[in-house]
Amino acid sequence: MKCKLCGQRAVLRLRAYNLSLCQDCLRDFVKRRVQKAIRDFRLLKKGEKVLVAVSGGKDSLSLWEILDGLGYDTIGLYIHLGIEGYSDRSLEKAKAFAQKKGLSLLVEDVREHFSGLGIPQLSKKDMRPPCSLCGMVKRYLMNKVACETDRTLATGHNLDDEAATLLGNVLDWKEGYLGRQAPRLEARDGFAPRVKPLVLCTEREMAAYAIASDIDYILEECPFSEGATSLFYKDVLNQIEERSPGTKLRFYQGFLKLQDRFRIEEPQLRPCSSCGYQTTGDLCNFCRLKEKAKKK
Ligand code: SF4
Ligand code: ZN
Repeated sequence: MKCKLCGQRAVLRLRAYNLSLCQDCLRDFVKRRVQKAIRDFRLLKKGEKVLVAVSGGKDSLSLWEILDGLGYDTIGLYIHLGIEGYSDRSLEKAKAFAQKKGLSLLVEDVREHFSGLGIPQLSKKDMRPPCSLCGMVKRYLMNKVACETDRTLATGHNLDDEAATLLGNVLDWKEGYLGRQAPRLEARDGFAPRVKPLVLCTEREMAAYAIASDIDYILEECPFSEGATSLFYKDVLNQIEERSPGTKLRFYQGFLKLQDRFRIEEPQLRPCSSCGYQTTGDLCNFCRLKEKAKKK
């Protein structure tokens, strides 16, 4: 199989585009897809200061490399979740990447905020599934650091992630979530702007990009991801994609054209009485969890 663009040995066939690409052309292809997303969805202005949320995985480290290469002023943020073994190993990957590229990495440790407890212990204490707590904690800390550093938060959500989330939101007709599932969310009082520059790149393209770019990323998945509904939705979408290449992209891009229909009133927010970040009640969920963690 030869690269359709330069004739070298192809490493990946992209049926959705009827293209086979070699390593170099694949890297250019992914970079152009990211630039297209930035342009089409007005994600970032030239030279914008960006905080890249990195997990040590292929998507976020590749995103960081691409944004840095495109000339954005980037720093990374790794959130240590206190998951035994997995968190340390993924932090090592993020640190090694930052060091190799000469980039700055900030580290937030969940245990420092919750009296020494990590996500697994907090989950037991709060009697909630780890992923629902983890999502809330990560969102809070990412936003906090983005506000403190006055940067736009960039996350490594790829097309597969967004299409799976969209499928879940559509199946349950979660109008509020559909209204907010955008590639860019503007800054609001107490919220930093958020962007997802990988929304036009599939998981498979990102894995191939990371390998072609010699990015050393963590292969193992978080132990709590097993059996996640989002993985089931991804699998279903991959089966559809297999029969009808390009479906994922059409599904997601078609949604973005219709998204205005799902705009809903933002809830009334006020500052949390403890941390000052915006919330609906008196105390935000993060501070409420902090209080719980303090109790023996
Ligand atoms: Fe957090 Fe792991 Fe769940 Fe992902 S799978 S939300 S990292 S606990
Ligand atoms: Zn708070």
